[in-house]
Amino acid sequence: MSGRVAVIGAGLAGVACARAFADAGWRVAIHDREGRIGGRLAQVRREGAVFDHGGQFIRPRDPVLKALLEAGVAAGVAARWPAADRDGVAAYVGCPTMAAPLEALLHGIEVRTGCRITGLVRDGEAWWVEDADGARRGPFDRVALAVPPAEASQLLGTIEAPPEALIAATGAVELAPCWALLLAFDPPLDLDGFDARSIDEGPLAWIARNTTKRGREGRDSWTVHASPDWSSAHLELPPEAVVEQLLLEFQAATGVTATPCHVEAHRWCQALVTQALGVPAVHDPVTGLGLCGDWCLGGNMEAAFLSGRALAGLPGNGG
Ligand SMILES: Cc1cc2nc3c(=O)[nH]c(=O)nc-3n(C[C@H](O)[C@H](O)[C@H](O)COP(=O)(O)OP(=O)(O)OC[C@H]3O[C@@H](n4cnc5c(N)ncnc54)[C@H](O)[C@@H]3O)c2cc1C
Repeated sequence: MSGRVAVIGAGLAGVACARAFADAGWRVAIHDREGRIGGRLAQVRREGAVFDHGGQFIRPRDPVLKALLEAGVAAGVAARWPAADRDGVAAYVGCPTMAAPLEALLHGIEVRTGCRITGLVRDGEAWWVEDADGARRGPFDRVALAVPPAEASQLLGTIEAPPEALIAATGAVELAPCWALLLAFDPPLDLDGFDARSIDEGPLAWIARNTTKRGREGRDSWTVHASPDWSSAHLELPPEAVVEQLLLEFQAATGVTATPCHVEAHRWCQALVTQALGVPAVHDPVTGLGLCGDWCLGGNMEAAFLSGRALAGLPGNGG
């Protein structure tokens, strides 16, 4: 079967889903509320420094994903990041942004960024999607919601009789927030051992030097992630107070005393999956409506990729 598919959400899950549908002969339109694709694979530039402040790297175990990343390396949109290799599994990053390999997967697919979908309308056998400007787009045979569970739940709430299995799925998962501290130093820090450092205890969970990833030239730039527990407990703290506290933690962890030339806190409200659904994706065969996202399988990029492909009916082999 083939026809028209609307994918809502252009993070890794949505892009993987859109690519798999398109490869199977479907005509695909992918929508994202942001002016860019990538979702939690995000990057900002500040005062000559480049920060990956969301997803940091991917350690693929699935052979399809690994092959895609290797193809990305050959094409110059991905690179190995040996600093984050663990247990014999190689780490990769997008180049020059984490989202760059996703852009390379969208050929032949209609991409609508800056398009927040606010409603889903069923008209006979067809789906229409409504955006925040009141435009109605369609008709579509299938709709894939590749958005976090809270947004999926909101969109399902706009349907007259939403499939119960889909409603239940969005209520069965949990995501934790993450405060990210962005630091730049000029001159660069003289600091070894923290290019990609996971931390198991205390307020911090991760310290990374962005400038050790290919394509992040510029001032010496660091991303520091607070732990899910600390981030949850301090969710409503003003960013200035978060900067103050997390900078002290960074200094205590690294011994750094230099003053950063740029400092900023970014809050991710739905960052990391702490309770996953435990199935690759959810699909209602009667209406053609489906759900995918990292939250179906676990809290990382590989989970998002496998979930997106699964919803399109093409799970990665060995995933
Ligand atoms: C701080 C942080 C650090 C992380 N570090 C790592 C890491 O090192 N390694 C790793 O593997 N994973 C990491 N992750 C997790 C990884 O980023 C995610 O698992 C993955 O990116 C999720 O992809 P997704 O497509 O499921 O969701 P998302 O990336 O959240 O994509 C959902 C998309 O839907 C869009 N959207 C939502 N509502 C609407 C709407 N109504 N209309 C249109 N569009 C909508 C959003 O704009 C977004 O682009 C990290 C995440 C965070 C936040």
